[in-house]
Amino acid sequence: MRQRVRKGILVYSALMFPMTFLLLSPFIIVLSAAEGVLNGSAMIFGLFLMFSVVGSRLFCGWLCPGGAVQDYISAANNRHWNSKWKNRSKYVIWVVWFSFIVFLWIHNRPIKGDFLHFMGINKFYLIIYVIVMSIIYLFTLVTGRRGMCHSLCWMAPFMVIGESIADFLHIPRFRLKANPDVCVSCGKCSRICPMGLNVADMVKSGSVDSTECINCLECVDGCPKKAIGFGICQKR
Ligand code: SF4
Ligand code: SF4
Repeated sequence: MRQRVRKGILVYSALMFPMTFLLLSPFIIVLSAAEGVLNGSAMIFGLFLMFSVVGSRLFCGWLCPGGAVQDYISAANNRHWNSKWKNRSKYVIWVVWFSFIVFLWIHNRPIKGDFLHFMGINKFYLIIYVIVMSIIYLFTLVTGRRGMCHSLCWMAPFMVIGESIADFLHIPRFRLKANPDVCVSCGKCSRICPMGLNVADMVKSGSVDSTECINCLECVDGCPKKAIGFGICQKR
């Protein structure tokens, strides 16, 4: 039932993406920063960071329209796309992108806030939308399960930073809990994980803590032995 609700929310989020697209745009932030404006997408990414201090990456697993689109595409390519270097590339892209934005903000100070800056739907919007959707589609088709989330996503680093702040300050946050004693190593959790994580190995190690985990709870609901739970707690 829980997974039906999650997938229903993701479908709705994907359907609404043409309306919410500019609120999640890494490009509009740059255009706005070049004019000395802190726009709506910059504010929303800041909110994501704050939310993830307690909520970890629940947004990615339950609400992200880009993630939802990738889940559909995985019907065409269900290969796992998860390794250290594949996961690191998004941080390299993020550092370059975010450093450039900070440079523009400093260069164009004083910055003024305008939530709806560049939010109009026009020809320019349609071109950007088609380009971004094509990138999501083609990249995930080539790479596999949530390839964009692993390697390109500009939002994930904000949430990983939020998680790291929580762990550093010992703030309890949403996380999975493993019970290795009841695990029978059937491997089902690893097979159904939309991020292609080796969940079974993590359960055996006693900790299902991964910055790549999107808190979708597929493994929790799919485990026949109820070896994975979840809750809000501090890092052990
Ligand atoms: S699905 Fe459950 S029992 Fe099977 S490997 Fe994963 S945690 Fe262990
Ligand atoms: S480890 Fe579990 S909660 Fe995390 S992404 Fe994989 S299936 Fe979802």
